[in-house]
Amino acid sequence: MRAEVVVVDKKNPDRSVMEKAGRILKNGGLVAFPTETVYGLGGNALDPKASMKIYAAKGRPSDNPLIIHIAEFGKLGAIVSDIPEKAKILAKKYWPGPLTMILPKADIVPRETTGGLDSVAVRFPSDPIAQSLIRAAGGYVAAPSANTSGRPSPTLAEHVEEDLGDAIDMILDGGPVGIGLESTIVDFTEEIPVVLRPGYISLEMLKETLGEVRMDKGLLITDSSVHPKAPGMKYRHYAPKADLSVVEGSAEKVIRYINAAAAEAKERGETVGILATDETASRYKKGIVRSIGSRADEEEIARHLYEVLRNFDSDEVSAIYSEAFYTPKMGQAIMNRLLKAAGHKIIHISEEEEK
Ligand code: AMP
Ligand code: MG
Repeated sequence: MRAEVVVVDKKNPDRSVMEKAGRILKNGGLVAFPTETVYGLGGNALDPKASMKIYAAKGRPSDNPLIIHIAEFGKLGAIVSDIPEKAKILAKKYWPGPLTMILPKADIVPRETTGGLDSVAVRFPSDPIAQSLIRAAGGYVAAPSANTSGRPSPTLAEHVEEDLGDAIDMILDGGPVGIGLESTIVDFTEEIPVVLRPGYISLEMLKETLGEVRMDKGLLITDSSVHPKAPGMKYRHYAPKADLSVVEGSAEKVIRYINAAAAEAKERGETVGILATDETASRYKKGIVRSIGSRADEEEIARHLYEVLRNFDSDEVSAIYSEAFYTPKMGQAIMNRLLKAAGHKIIHISEEEEK
């Protein structure tokens, strides 16, 4: 089976295409679609067989639960057993949008969809194609990112085709996504809300609306004995094929370090990939240099991260060196994904002997 790829206009999704896609989901099939964060791989969330198909298509471990996507707030009540007041406040502020909430699940949600857990992750995306598909499918679409498990998440329909073109029924191509990093996940099953995955909606923004909010300990500590609460966050994820190292320190020292590493690799007959910015790209003299965008525009950095990592895969480089991006608002989310892609390999230049 080769997926049918259909270009859809975000401003005015073609009704017959959306009805066809909805029918595929109602009949237990799989459809990939754009959201404002990354492309999702959709299946009927209330059909255990469809959820199992999603795991199989992605090669995803079945203990890694799926997020259920809805297209109106009123649909939430049927799939959760309780909506705490704070969750209502947050939904009012950030839905539709890049926010996922973990709530206690209702019985109609199959355990196949929640990876065996008693809680369920729910999101109401803002992308009009996503909303139209969810409505056409009956209201509940389980959708993880539409990549092969372990590869960088897809931010273009071409990425989905590359990974899953042979494994699913249809791909809705709505062009490039807006944010480029997965949703912020907030867990409401404990007294104090906990961030299980940072995203566009930052800890500061959440605190402004909710007061006290904690960051999951498993995200902050790289000690392997402390597991993140979101099962998916423990896997090496988002990873390019080549070994990736993040180099952190003052701009000049980082450039010098990476140039020295690239020169050494060249002597060995190897080529390295260098993940740079518009401001620094021309300073790197050897290796394949790719700019992620300007440091002045952190949203551009977030939007391009996965695409640049995928491009290095096609370059077949032996290793990748990346600058660090501790930007003011999205830095936590960007560095969370970059460090996971690097398997937490970070080189602190100030502590390292300079090459
Ligand atoms: P993805 O669908 O690729 O965006 O990944 C979904 C993320 O949500 C994974 O990291 C999951 O582990 C996490 N997740 C989904 N449901 C739950 C849940 N009930 N409790 C904790 N984390 C969850
Ligand atoms: Mg994913």
